[in-house]
Amino acid sequence: MMSGHASQALLALGSNLGDRAAFLDAAVASLAAEPGVCVLARSSIYETAPIGTAARADFLNATVAVATTLGPEGLLAVCQRIESGNGRVRSVPNAPRTLDVDMVFFGNEERCSARLTLPHPRYAGRAFVCVPLAEMLALPPLNAERGWDWLRARLDALPGGLRHPSPACRPWKR
Ligand code: AMP
Repeated sequence: MMSGHASQALLALGSNLGDRAAFLDAAVASLAAEPGVCVLARSSIYETAPIGTAARADFLNATVAVATTLGPEGLLAVCQRIESGNGRVRSVPNAPRTLDVDMVFFGNEERCSARLTLPHPRYAGRAFVCVPLAEMLALPPLNAERGWDWLRARLDALPGGLRHPSPACRPWKR
């Protein structure tokens, strides 16, 4: 249930430890159960090789679109609570993680602090974010959402390898 003015936000999920798909599903279910958050759409799941030295196992990645009456900081707190609730332990950067929930976009908000940078500073170079994002923006109800046209244009301008599935970011079947 939501009342009041809602914004849309696009979140990126990742897991490379344990039952990876179950962690992605748990993240979506937790978001859907959150007061003030409504899940609009989710992408299918992609499998990707890890980036960074400490990570070893392949990731499963997906994106989720939500409408929310929370502000960016409030939604970030929800994302971090969902990470912690699913066994995420912050050790070294790029360490294997049961669940990563990043806020990639909150409407067209732009801000930059250590706690929250929007859009997420590294999304544009990451196929594991851009491939599911491009898929999700073409799914109902987001395909009818003109408020994301600027993002569609931005994704269209990226090299094809960053926005189309490839061996580096391949569809994953349950
Ligand atoms: P990570 O461990 O890679 O998920 O990074 C999480 C840290 O990045 C947290 O301290 C967040 O406060 C910070 N952060 C900054 N911008 C964002 C964002 N757009 N989405 C998620 N975390 C962010």
